[in-house]
Amino acid sequence: MTTRREVLGWLAGLGAAVALPGRAEAATNVTAVRGVTLIDSSGVRPNTTIVVADNRIVATNPKTLPPEATTLNLHGKFVIPGLWDMHVHGAHLERITLPLCLVNGVTGFREMWGFPQIYDLRDRIERGETAGPKLVVGSAIIDGPHSTLPGATIAATPEEGRQAVRDATQADFIKVYSYLDRQTLEAIADECEKRNITFAGHCSNHVSMQDASDLGQRTFEHMYGLPLATSVKETQLRQAIAQLPLDPANPFAWFKQVLDIERQATLSHSRSKAERLANRLRRNNSALCPTMVTMRVFSSPADRFANDPRIKYMPTFYRDFWRDSLKNWAPTTEQEIRQQADFLQRRMEQTGEMHDHGVEILLGTDAGSPYTFPGFSVHDELELLTEAGLSPKAALNAGTQNTTIKPGAEANLVVLDANPLRDIRNTKRIHTVVARGKVLGPQQRRQMLADVEKAAQEPFPPQARMCC
Ligand SMILES: [Zn+2]
Repeated sequence: MTTRREVLGWLAGLGAAVALPGRAEAATNVTAVRGVTLIDSSGVRPNTTIVVADNRIVATNPKTLPPEATTLNLHGKFVIPGLWDMHVHGAHLERITLPLCLVNGVTGFREMWGFPQIYDLRDRIERGETAGPKLVVGSAIIDGPHSTLPGATIAATPEEGRQAVRDATQADFIKVYSYLDRQTLEAIADECEKRNITFAGHCSNHVSMQDASDLGQRTFEHMYGLPLATSVKETQLRQAIAQLPLDPANPFAWFKQVLDIERQATLSHSRSKAERLANRLRRNNSALCPTMVTMRVFSSPADRFANDPRIKYMPTFYRDFWRDSLKNWAPTTEQEIRQQADFLQRRMEQTGEMHDHGVEILLGTDAGSPYTFPGFSVHDELELLTEAGLSPKAALNAGTQNTTIKPGAEANLVVLDANPLRDIRNTKRIHTVVARGKVLGPQQRRQMLADVEKAAQEPFPPQARMCC
């Protein structure tokens, strides 16, 4: 075992300085990953050695290795930074969500519906008491009246919007939803600015993406609002939305009608309007988190993904829960199925177009939504991002938050058996994951999956059945 003093001495010998807090005599785990091709947002570096001490990368390609380093000879393998899933539900299903993410190389995620149990989990992970990805946790979901979401915090007035922001004392960001009216969203934006916290979530059906971006909305989820914002008929279609009758007993019907207006909007797409929108999103530092993998499920016949073998890793109640969730959404007739496939295709192309204009695209899955799995679905989303027109390199940048692997950075690495730049599906061919310096090799990853499969069979308390 190496001590911190020895590691720091070795680093000084290299002429490198990396802070490694803690007592000098404390035992330090040192691992050298050798002979890999490193791929990150700075480029491709063949035959690289990465040295990790505790939870930090401390050197790349040093002349010597520190005393008693554990050496992993991984010649011929490829290393990318740990992946980030920017749209996840269900962190509180700890023994399911956390290991499935880690096994799949997801070393950080954004939880889109926060509550006390999840804030506590985030803090436990941060203190090193629980193994898991780094969590960034949203507030309770704030929505307007007639929300389709049971359990959302309803803000019907600007003052209620402000109060909801003030109440979110433990959240890392404020999550907004589809039914907020303009004045309430403005109040939320203003209160967020005062409190130095960002807001993110759905583009409200009552506010255009341009305006929500100007108000400071940091991310837009699920491609909602994008077809309208890029349609030459936006004004007319927005008037149609304003005139839609809303039956409070059936908010779903209204939401579905809005979505169909969005589908119609894709038929009057304007390239110049898209470019103007992109300029605005870029200027405001707003990003798109399209969650194509889950939108594909909602756009497909209900049974298309029902036999996914990965369902064995989810708690058994998910089988019914997912099937029931799709009942309100899935297309059934031949015509609906064709329309929905076309609608998805057009929205994906629009996302690719936004990327071409320099808008930041985030990798997010909406894990917890029907047939969208923690960890696994990240790799499906990477593939869909390339189908939308991103290069494998751009998709990887979206999935890794443009991280670079360099001394001083937290040690989150994914070792792959094949080159993801050649074929993005190679991100599924994971050999080893390093999460905050902890090495999860092939044997350990297999064991973790077996443990999840077992845990999934155990009963979960009813309050765990919460999603999306
Ligand atoms: Zn969601």
